[in-house]
Amino acid sequence: MYKSLETEVLVIGGGGAGCRAAIEAHDNGSEVLMMLKGRLGNSGCTLWVGISSAVGSWGGDEADTPETSMIDLLSYGGYLGNQDLAKILSEESEDRVHEMEEWGIDFRRNEDGSVFVDMDPEHTYARSFYFKIKGEVDGNHSNEKYDYGSQPGHAIMDVLTEQVAKRDIKIKNNTVLIDLLLNRGRVVGALGLDCENNELVVIKAKSVVLATGSYSHIFAPTTVSPFETGDGHGAAYRAGAELIDMETCQFVATDRPFKPQSVFLNTEGEDIMPKYGIDLKSKDRATKEYMCYAIWNEVMQGKGTDKEKVYIDVDGDRDPSAPLDKLIQTAPQAHTTIGGVKIDGKCQTSLPGLYAGGAIGGGVYGHARPQGYTSMITLVFGRIAGESASQGATSTESVEIDELQLQNTINHALGIKRRLKNINPRDIKKQIKVIMRNHCWVIREEKSLIEGLSKISDLTNYLENKGTDNSDDASPDGYEWARYLELNNLLLTSKLMIEGSLMRKESRGAYNRSEYPDTDNINWLKNLVYKNIDGKPIIDAIPVDLKYCAPSEFAGTIQ
Ligand SMILES: Cc1cc2nc3c(=O)[nH]c(=O)nc-3n(C[C@H](O)[C@H](O)[C@H](O)COP(=O)(O)OP(=O)(O)OC[C@H]3O[C@@H](n4cnc5c(N)ncnc54)[C@H](O)[C@@H]3O)c2cc1C
Repeated sequence: MYKSLETEVLVIGGGGAGCRAAIEAHDNGSEVLMMLKGRLGNSGCTLWVGISSAVGSWGGDEADTPETSMIDLLSYGGYLGNQDLAKILSEESEDRVHEMEEWGIDFRRNEDGSVFVDMDPEHTYARSFYFKIKGEVDGNHSNEKYDYGSQPGHAIMDVLTEQVAKRDIKIKNNTVLIDLLLNRGRVVGALGLDCENNELVVIKAKSVVLATGSYSHIFAPTTVSPFETGDGHGAAYRAGAELIDMETCQFVATDRPFKPQSVFLNTEGEDIMPKYGIDLKSKDRATKEYMCYAIWNEVMQGKGTDKEKVYIDVDGDRDPSAPLDKLIQTAPQAHTTIGGVKIDGKCQTSLPGLYAGGAIGGGVYGHARPQGYTSMITLVFGRIAGESASQGATSTESVEIDELQLQNTINHALGIKRRLKNINPRDIKKQIKVIMRNHCWVIREEKSLIEGLSKISDLTNYLENKGTDNSDDASPDGYEWARYLELNNLLLTSKLMIEGSLMRKESRGAYNRSEYPDTDNINWLKNLVYKNIDGKPIIDAIPVDLKYCAPSEFAGTIQ
């Protein structure tokens, strides 16, 4: 009925964080198995990393330090980020970059051989750099930064997969996490689905690392890879782990590259950005959060096109007498989600035996992500998760599967397959995306959120109460079964995002509530922590520990 495997450390996910975790766990002496959706080197968002940002000896401003970098990260995220995690990230990034160099990756360089380091509006100092892609020629790269989602991520993944291949790390491609296995509150492995063989796989493990990326596929349009359906978030939540900041998603302002001279116009021909105090040329407020808000607010005011977009004059040289509809249209897209599984500085989750790193690790950013830090998060917290998982495995003599919990988990997965086999998962996924875009997009509002929540509940009930079809004909293959399982996680993460949005009555960073346009540090300098209690999400607002820095109202509280 299922295949059984056993390992010391199980790493779930094969992007940057998963690879880095597997390498570290192996180098700390553990037996490691990776399982991932898709194939190693060809799945996840790390492939699409453009810019990386960190302070290091390769260049940048001499006044810049890990501390200034940490303060930038925390202030950009509205001071909701976990300050211990931000400190670790700022201090460890340089080592991870040098390690990538040792493993054979080079920086994009200027003609004189110095590393090309750039200034982004989201950072106080110039600390953005690019890893070099194969065959790239050094030179002046100043215009290429707008080509976001470009190729340096492939260079990162090439190096990491090469390092994985050099080690005795077992890999199960095309095998998706269904749920975590628990024994008396401890994670003891995972139930997976080998899509190629349409076979359930039970993997017993002393430590499990989640590195499954984001849950942005609750939205359309989105920049993220189709693998990112919140499966790790769903499994962790169902197992009882705490999640954090699930209400927040990073959006990007446009679905196409723009330049400092670009002009965004509404359907009345008004130049949008200056109306919101944004100056793309001087980079003043030219961050994705302000730009997204500006564009979407125009659309909400009825000044968008019938596709809910605005016009962009990319080179800023349009003949003012030319009709507007000759211009390209553009609109915000959902980027990677910000919330995730709550971790501490060791990447330990609230469940013994379970670790998380990379985009799934919640709490690092707060409510907005400055450009370039996520690739560093992937490497830094991927490494720490691998190290901690290995230490956890070493200190654990053995783990046992709870047969009853395993059977229930298998029955649940089989039930989903049998109930859903006559529906088209793509149709349901599309419906989820429409609901989330209509009710929980860039700018949110209570009445609409309540309607959205009710639609998500209706869809969930519809799928849960669909009659079981036990006949074997038209039984879905493993890949189709995996699509059904994804729906479960998309519906769950959508529900959590809406419920958290209803609770947080303020605007901050990438998160906007139309009725509460201001940041409310007095009442809302708090993280929302989500927990599954008897099948219902309980959300607690927990004050942030302002250890190292704070908004001005709280500056005196730092020890
Ligand atoms: C278009 C785009 C551009 C970006 N540009 C930048 C940038 O310039 N700079 C920057 O710092 N960051 C950037 N990011 C963000 C960054 O790429 C990611 O957040 C980061 O790489 C995440 O790494 P990860 O290893 O956590 O997840 P990913 O690299 O996304 O890997 C997730 C892995 O989990 C696997 N997985 C998912 N579900 C399951 C399951 N059920 N079972 C098993 N495996 C599963 C996936 O197949 C994949 O292997 C960008 C993101 C996008 C989408």
